[in-house]
Amino acid sequence: MRREDEFGFEKIIEVYDQKTGMQGVCAIHNTARGPGKGGIRMVPDVTTEEVMGLARAMTWKNAMADLPFGGAKSGIRADPRKLTPEQKEAHMRAFARKIKEIIPDLYIAGPDMNTTEKEMAQFADEIGTPKACTGKPHSVGGLPHELGSTGFGVAISARTAVEYSGKSLSGMTVAIEGFGNVGTFTMKFLTDWGAKVVAVSDSKGTIYDKGGLKYEDLLRIKAEKGTVTAAQGEKLDAAKLFELPVDILVPGARPDVINMNNVGNIKAKMIAEAANLPAKYDIEQVLMKKGVVVLPDFVANAGGVISSYCETMGWDSETMFKVVEGKIKNNTKTMLERTKDHDTRKAALDIAKERVADAMRNRGWMK
Ligand code: NAD
Repeated sequence: MRREDEFGFEKIIEVYDQKTGMQGVCAIHNTARGPGKGGIRMVPDVTTEEVMGLARAMTWKNAMADLPFGGAKSGIRADPRKLTPEQKEAHMRAFARKIKEIIPDLYIAGPDMNTTEKEMAQFADEIGTPKACTGKPHSVGGLPHELGSTGFGVAISARTAVEYSGKSLSGMTVAIEGFGNVGTFTMKFLTDWGAKVVAVSDSKGTIYDKGGLKYEDLLRIKAEKGTVTAAQGEKLDAAKLFELPVDILVPGARPDVINMNNVGNIKAKMIAEAANLPAKYDIEQVLMKKGVVVLPDFVANAGGVISSYCETMGWDSETMFKVVEGKIKNNTKTMLERTKDHDTRKAALDIAKERVADAMRNRGWMK
């Protein structure tokens, strides 16, 4: 048995489909607040333990985002580069059939590593209801990723924290790692609200201009030349971005980018974690002790899961942006009010656990 503590795990389903050879796992950590919500990843080395860890993280993320969802996650063990499109679809459909009985009451799927809106459309089609998953294409009732809900949420979280400290975003300098879905929209909204983005990086390096970079210019240059480093400004190594003298640092691409090697050189006063786990907790604690305001990933980058919730409700993009703004503002503020000794992550995790425990007590699952 896999009982961990009073929160979970509720159910772990390991499946095998003889016809396609598909092997998969769905872990339901806790459904006290609603159906377990979490994506399906397709990777060759996925393990039940990894999926369980991700499912648990989703319980806290969804509770902290204040959504009526519990936590869950799925994994299909396959190497998508070695599968034909037909085989990939057959794996998705086989996985859907094997876990059908728990959808959507206990589990609602979504895209994750190597699964996209295309696989979500196949998954929903196989189950027979659009309620089976989020992240579907617009044509089958989805709210596309391209709307920029996650970057918008990161920008809202940063603005809320700046205003909470009695300051204004206007004129604050910002450095953003990554110019993909999250990085571009974070830059767009922070710039719209008066901040000055002075540095942006991609896999080719960092472009730095103390006078401020222009959003439209970077978009055009990235599209034309394939890298932001072709823009006007000083070209630096990608890793240099983290050490620049800015007010707000936004790690928005890879995990573990702030680590033992560079934590002593971080000069930013606030870190808005757009990527997942850009720094381990002990590294965050080093920064927090110095008074750096850390907006933890599961608070700052929750725009995507909030948009998923809006998709399950059938709301349009205008409503979605309003809901993301309202929830991220409130959650960031509540976390900051509860923070002791600058430890924002602990405060957020405590709030999430209280919300889940409260739902469990109301359901009579806990005294
Ligand atoms: P993306 O694939 O759209 O963009 C990734 C960007 O990172 C690209 O611009 C790429 O050039 C850049 N990059 C790659 N290597 C780099 C390097 N060495 N230095 C600097 N930049 C580098 O991905 P995304 O959707 O923007 O996601 C970024 C991060 O945010 C991931 O950690 C993801 O898990 C997390 N996240 C995304 C969402 C979402 O809704 N998209 C939600 C929550 C968390």
